Amino acid sequence: QAKRAGRAQFRIDAGQDVPVPVDQLRLEVDLHHAIERRELELFFQPQFDGRTLQVVGAEALLRWRHPQLGMVPPDRFIPLAEESGLIVPIGRWVIDEACRQAAEWSALACRPIGVAVNVSVRQMLGDDIASVVAQALRRHALPAQRLELEITESLAVGDVAQARLLLARLADLGVGVAIDDFGVGYSSLAYLRDLPVQRVKIDRSFLRQVPQDAGSSRLVGAMVSMARALEIGLVAEGVETVEQLDFLCEQGCDAIQGYLLGRPIAGDDFLHRLMADDFGHRGRNAAAKS
Ligand code: C2E
Ligand code: MG
Ligand code: MG
Ligand code: MG
Repeated sequence: QAKRAGRAQFRIDAGQDVPVPVDQLRLEVDLHHAIERRELELFFQPQFDGRTLQVVGAEALLRWRHPQLGMVPPDRFIPLAEESGLIVPIGRWVIDEACRQAAEWSALACRPIGVAVNVSVRQMLGDDIASVVAQALRRHALPAQRLELEITESLAVGDVAQARLLLARLADLGVGVAIDDFGVGYSSLAYLRDLPVQRVKIDRSFLRQVPQDAGSSRLVGAMVSMARALEIGLVAEGVETVEQLDFLCEQGCDAIQGYLLGRPIAGDDFLHRLMADDFGHRGRNAAAKS
């Protein structure tokens, strides 16, 4: 059985009869020039305080405007960037650009607005991330507390000692770290005890059946309790319905993000809506303020 599987594997590796999608190759080639050709752009999705429902920050989400193919979603090109190593220069650009825009917002809106940046494990391990972050903060005079890096649980699957060292350097800078897509990885919960993490973001798959399904609701409720016990912040992402929002607010969730309260939008649009105080679900803000 093993032998047969081995032979099949060899045939696939030899590349016979395995069509490589043309688009995929094309994307990989074109990605090399995406930064210099200014085809990359950050969109921003607002994050809201769970009690006041005021905007407190945004998650930066990378977009690639391909001249022929149009807008390419990150799920299609981030994996290519990781495989090719291009994630290092791309990731540097993302950190710098996010800091630039966040510094501008806070200055113009006259209140602190934070920004969260996704960093892939490959970038964390393949670059001097703390130096890149320190340089971007300095260049744009952004207070470190306004930047948060979103990493996934998979960082903790590898070398935990190295992960701890990297996160400790970021903590020294004053930059927060959030665990993205919390609860869907294969890592143990031990990393929450062993690593300096300030927030977890509940993966949106957990919210899908909240509040109508009792089991899902209890699980999310338990995550909120766990975060409180560990004294770390909790962000719910993928909040799409008023019922989900009500449930999370009742549970005491710290921060909310999702299509209900705001979709990812271009940086200029984000700034305009911030200045116009034009975010959130109609009627919700008023209800929460009273
Ligand atoms: P993520 O970090 O978990 O980002 C959340 C994704 O969920 C975003 O998709 C966002 O648009 C989407 N989303 C937000 N609210 C809702 C909602 O209410 N309902 C639904 N159905 N979806 C919602 P997006 O922008 O396509 O990004 C996908 C993934 O690509 C991100 O997942 C992140 O892992 C990765 N990514 C995005 N930008 C970057 C980046 O600059 N660097 C790296 N390394 N990865 C990035
Ligand atoms: Mg994220
Ligand atoms: Mg996520
Ligand atoms: Mg994700």
